Amino acid sequence: YAKTAGGNALRFFEAGMQTTITARATLENELHAAIASDQFVLHYQSQVTADDEVVGAEVLIRWQHPTRGLLQPMEFIDVAEDTGLIIPMGLWVLEAACRQLQLWAPHPSLHRLTLAVNVSARQFRKDDFVDQVQKVLVRTGANPSKLKLELTESLLQDKVADTIVKMNALAGLGIRFSMDDFGTGYSSLSYMTQLPLDQIKVDKFFVHSIGLNPKVELIIQTIIGMARNLDLEIVAEGVETQGQRSFLEKHGCRICQGYMFGRPQPVAAFERAMKSGLRATTVPRD
Ligand code: C2E
Ligand code: MG
Ligand code: MG
Ligand code: MG
Repeated sequence: YAKTAGGNALRFFEAGMQTTITARATLENELHAAIASDQFVLHYQSQVTADDEVVGAEVLIRWQHPTRGLLQPMEFIDVAEDTGLIIPMGLWVLEAACRQLQLWAPHPSLHRLTLAVNVSARQFRKDDFVDQVQKVLVRTGANPSKLKLELTESLLQDKVADTIVKMNALAGLGIRFSMDDFGTGYSSLSYMTQLPLDQIKVDKFFVHSIGLNPKVELIIQTIIGMARNLDLEIVAEGVETQGQRSFLEKHGCRICQGYMFGRPQPVAAFERAMKSGLRATTVPRD
């Protein structure tokens, strides 16, 4: 009996594996097609100061899939990373964001906004990354000082010298850097002073513990204090409640990003919210 059950379990397991492999292969083929036929869109999420001023936005990729609807990064970023498709995809994001900056340049209020673009470690590691960014800036005419590249701590695990060289080259063009998801990855405080960093982002994991976990609250205060001592700007992500916002502001974090200010939204909706001066909280979720 046990043997039969084992046999069935094994067949079941194999069938499941097969589905996963097929689904991945399908996704990979579809991702190739998506890159070739422009199926990605950027959603914009505002970054708001303690005075309720929107100072910038983070651009977040979505995939308008031909049959499955709008897909979130969670559903395709890993496959893009594993297959290397993150590289052309990342370049597309960068170019689209820079085109948007250039479109906003003449506008009385939108021209002030910075755009933060997520850069995967794999994309950043490419030998020609600096060159590619430079070309995008030339092609689009975007002002580099409005561009912020969000990097992750994984870039500090190895080949740090290379990371520093590239960051310095890009900083020389006027581009700014934010360390995303700070405190969740490989801890690398020793490098904090060697990188031309402008900003760190407190991960939403920490933010969501405000009011719930006093120890995590102390860690947030420590991160903010460190950022201030190093003269780094600090942004909190995932801010959903007034309680979280108040805590962050009270401890010196002046810029917040999160659902309480608005979901990531298509550019037209983002622009409408900006122009009407409305808080973006009324827009439907993406
Ligand atoms: P991330 O860069 O840390 O982006 C923040 C994520 O938090 C976004 O998820 C955003 O929609 C979500 N978020 C914002 N406010 C709140 C909030 O108040 N509560 C909660 N629970 N979540 C909030 P999203 O858009 O699903 O992106 C997930 C991740 O995918 C990003 O994390 C980033 O690592 C990656 N990603 C997104 N777009 C790109 C891209 O263009 N290139 C690369 N390489 N990665 C990207
Ligand atoms: Mg980010
Ligand atoms: Mg983040
Ligand atoms: Mg995060």
